[in-house]
Amino acid sequence: SSSPGNSIPAGLNPRQREAIAYLDGPLLVLAGAGSGKTRVITEKIVHLIETCDIKPHQVAAITFTNKAAMEMSERIAKRMASASKGTPKGLTIATFHSLGLRMVREEAKTLGYKPGFSIFDSADCLGIINELSGTTDKAKLRWLQTTISLWKNGLLSPKEAADAAKDEEEVVAARVYCEYANALHAYQAVDFDDLIRLPVTLLQDNAEIRQKWQDKFRHILVDEYQDTNTAQYRLLQQLTGVRASFTAVGDDDQAIYGWRGADVENLRRLTEDFPQLKVIKLEQNYRSTGKILDAANTLIENNPKLFPKSLWSEHGPGANINVIACAEGEAEAETVVMKLQGHRFEHRAKFSDYAILYRSNHQARVFEQALRQQRIPYLLSGGQSFFDKAEIKDLLAYLRLLVNDDDDPAFIRAATTPRRGIGTQTLATLGRYAAERQISLFAALFEEGFAAQASSRVVQPLREFGEFINRFQWRAQRESAADVFPDILAAIDYENWLYDQEESRAAETRWGNVQEFHAWITKKSDDDGKTLAEIVQTMALMSLLERRDQGDDYDAVQLSTLHAAKGLEFGHVFLVGVEENILPHRESQEAEKLEEERRLMYVGITRAQRSLHITWCEKRRQGKELVPCEPSRFIQEMGCEAATSASKTVADKSTSTAKLDFLKALLQKNNSGDATA
Ligand code: ATP
Ligand code: MG
Repeated sequence: SSSPGNSIPAGLNPRQREAIAYLDGPLLVLAGAGSGKTRVITEKIVHLIETCDIKPHQVAAITFTNKAAMEMSERIAKRMASASKGTPKGLTIATFHSLGLRMVREEAKTLGYKPGFSIFDSADCLGIINELSGTTDKAKLRWLQTTISLWKNGLLSPKEAADAAKDEEEVVAARVYCEYANALHAYQAVDFDDLIRLPVTLLQDNAEIRQKWQDKFRHILVDEYQDTNTAQYRLLQQLTGVRASFTAVGDDDQAIYGWRGADVENLRRLTEDFPQLKVIKLEQNYRSTGKILDAANTLIENNPKLFPKSLWSEHGPGANINVIACAEGEAEAETVVMKLQGHRFEHRAKFSDYAILYRSNHQARVFEQALRQQRIPYLLSGGQSFFDKAEIKDLLAYLRLLVNDDDDPAFIRAATTPRRGIGTQTLATLGRYAAERQISLFAALFEEGFAAQASSRVVQPLREFGEFINRFQWRAQRESAADVFPDILAAIDYENWLYDQEESRAAETRWGNVQEFHAWITKKSDDDGKTLAEIVQTMALMSLLERRDQGDDYDAVQLSTLHAAKGLEFGHVFLVGVEENILPHRESQEAEKLEEERRLMYVGITRAQRSLHITWCEKRRQGKELVPCEPSRFIQEMGCEAATSASKTVADKSTSTAKLDFLKALLQKNNSGDATA
């Protein structure tokens, strides 16, 4: 449907076309849910490459999740004139973190890292913070970790953090931050926040490298811009430079990552930092029917407005919103599954048209159970990542150690899993020696000084382990990771160890995961030609779950947290557990946090295309007791009534169909000539 010389499809509205064609400077597309922002990004990439003669490697698109990146790749591949060739080679579609990883990798030397540097996950980092702070109090540890992370995302150095500390607690945290930063460097490791922070500081301080990266990308496109944090914003600024050739799209009403340091202020800051910024608003929603959209609009009006906007739809009013009160949690799950089945039958829909969305991961369990009972296929996203599973982390520790033997957390895990005569006492002795000498555990175990100090009962098993790692390091430098991996499994007798640990069904599942892991490594190394270091680093950012449901035609109900559902759409949505203390969350009662919860609810509602069910429970089990619950205030705020289970019916006070029809007529008049699909 595109004419030569112009790859913009006729179906897009004038604002969208304008956003796609605009190349004179920085552009912000600010618009509500389902208005075609992500579509603008995809089409603009195609347009840049096919019409503007920009090479794929000069374009970078930044998405919020790996999954979104993969979906975008696929969509672009389908849209290109040369569709058979897939996604254009060299085109960057990445998250901020994977782009950052690429930069740290390419500039590792300047940053003082070896190519095989480790990426520590949250658990690794928590372990280090635990050691440095001497705190075992879990809540305190989490607070320290969050505080340090927020400082890093705010681009504060340990010194700046210390200067800015407001109380004794923060002074202590700043000290831990400083030691933590030193420890990471000693381990040749970075954490997730470093993947953004390091590139930013590097580009800031090094004009030559900055120029190199600025020359690399002619245009950068950022989706979900409202959820960028300060460091990410700076990275974008550094990468685009004075030319400032970028397209950011976002919706301030969908900013839901404030708790992770994202700041909607970055939207406003754009307008200040780039006086030449062009802003385009999109107001037609292509996703949802009128009543759903209306409820979303009504709800979000309860938040103070940063940028006022209104959304309308041409889809007609559609079905009423169903609010269902349930007696308690299990009844809720059963009700949802029953309604879903009935609805699916009635509408001849597929399972994959349905999503069950909830506030927190743990809420999924009862729904999984109910779906299984009814033999309904489902996919769980936003839950535990594949790479967070114990068996995968065990084996990953070996691989990490092969590429970076200074990686102490990997050393500790590999040396003790499976057990090989290295206990906590042994590790403590080695740890003391390594700390004195300021070297890694691996380096310490080979030193004569250590052998002189410790008994042979301590030294012997450590040396054996060290030599084991050396042998495999030697092989890993010469052979494909796909070949080395099964030999490690055999050498540590991992399968038998799993069956010794667990009852056989659980062990079977774990062993299945190990095999899937092997398959994944094989694909990466043999098909994609990645080195072991690259594979290990990529792994830290990837979740196989995301990979698994990618491009899948698997017909399954989607179970997802609201956070993980951002940007997605489903024919029919069940929003569950819509109660006070859940949504809004118990810990989010102060004004600003409450607003973020409201935006989360807005995100949930606007995922639905044709129908929306909302459920809440009158009681929930807490320990042994059934505790009474209240329907979320958001139900009322969206203009619905929280029916009780006694009345068991639908409540819907939507009144604006007339208003919508009026708007529709008006806009059709003004937009004549603007073809809409
Ligand atoms: P969100 O804020 O939830 O991320 P969004 O603004 O990114 O939403 P998209 O996902 O791009 O919205 O679009 C929503 C739906 O509308 C998609 O199915 C998309 O293909 C469709 N769409 C977008 N623009 C048009 C258009 N001009 N005509 C018809 N359909 C459109
Ligand atoms: Mg989007």
